[in-house]
Amino acid sequence: MIVDRQGRRFRNLRISLTSACNYACTYCVPNGKRLVAAQDELSAQAMARGVAYLIEAAGIERLRITGGEPLVSPKLEAFMDAIGKMGLEDISLTTNGQLLARKLPLLVDAGIKRINVSLDTLDAGAFRRIARGGDLASVLDGMQQARAAGLKIKVNMVPLRGQNLDQVLPLLDYCLERGYELRFIELMRMGHLASDGNAFLQQFVSLQQLLDLIGERYEYLQADAPVDATAVRYAIPGRGHFGVIANESVPFCRTCSRLRLSSTGWLHGCLSSSNRHYVGDLLDKPRHEALPALQRLLVKALGDKQEVAFSGGATVMKIIGG
Ligand code: SAM
Repeated sequence: MIVDRQGRRFRNLRISLTSACNYACTYCVPNGKRLVAAQDELSAQAMARGVAYLIEAAGIERLRITGGEPLVSPKLEAFMDAIGKMGLEDISLTTNGQLLARKLPLLVDAGIKRINVSLDTLDAGAFRRIARGGDLASVLDGMQQARAAGLKIKVNMVPLRGQNLDQVLPLLDYCLERGYELRFIELMRMGHLASDGNAFLQQFVSLQQLLDLIGERYEYLQADAPVDATAVRYAIPGRGHFGVIANESVPFCRTCSRLRLSSTGWLHGCLSSSNRHYVGDLLDKPRHEALPALQRLLVKALGDKQEVAFSGGATVMKIIGG
């Protein structure tokens, strides 16, 4: 097992199945152009081999499939088939929900039990302005169908000053009523927001600002969360829970256990570092050749983690997923 001086190791793997996305969210894709799949994306089989090798080389126990938008990828079915029997403790998926109703049978057949759906507003006009793609009704319908099929749902919302702050309470109510757990994600200094501090500060909403807003309607108590959780979790007695992934306000780098693999074969040990390590070529090699080389790169990737706090990164979320 590869462990650093702070006792951190890789336990959670996030795979960006594709960099293609059917949205172009303002805070993620500043030029508004929808993303297509990179020319040199790995095959479903190579990515699945990557998961198998990383289980062995890094001790990965939990996998999250992300993107881009994983549900637009033609590789989804073959990838899910291949990873189903690897003995992972947990497999989950992050999606914008646009194609959820259509892809639900595939997810259920693959044994997915929980999903995170990104949804920044319940207002159709604001939805179009922020996501610049898709439509709100399809997302809500997809979530409803997923819930009816027995999937556990978390909703991810990025609160943005001037764009969707008026949606914090409506979205929280909506989620509490349906048993979805709402996760607010503090805006992160990623991609263009890492270099344009003004654009970041104009839109950023802190944990405390959110709690003040929620406190106007609800009493809440801090709830338990796993040691390496990224979210601070709160209970609203008798109603449910919500969480805040507070990268800025409550940095969680000291306990971070995440490793990311991009759709083009790059390992990222930290979102806040521009270092990345190419493993695409290793995934075509037999296990005995691939594992030692992979382990050397994993040591470097673990060394890329920040000591204390996320400081921003040129890496863009749209490429390596949330
Ligand atoms: N397409 C999928 C989705 O929409 O969930 C997966 C990829 S998307 C990049 C993953 C998550 O990252 C979304 O919840 C999105 O809101 C979030 N995200 C993207 N850029 C971000 C930023 N700069 N700060 C905080 N969250 C961000």
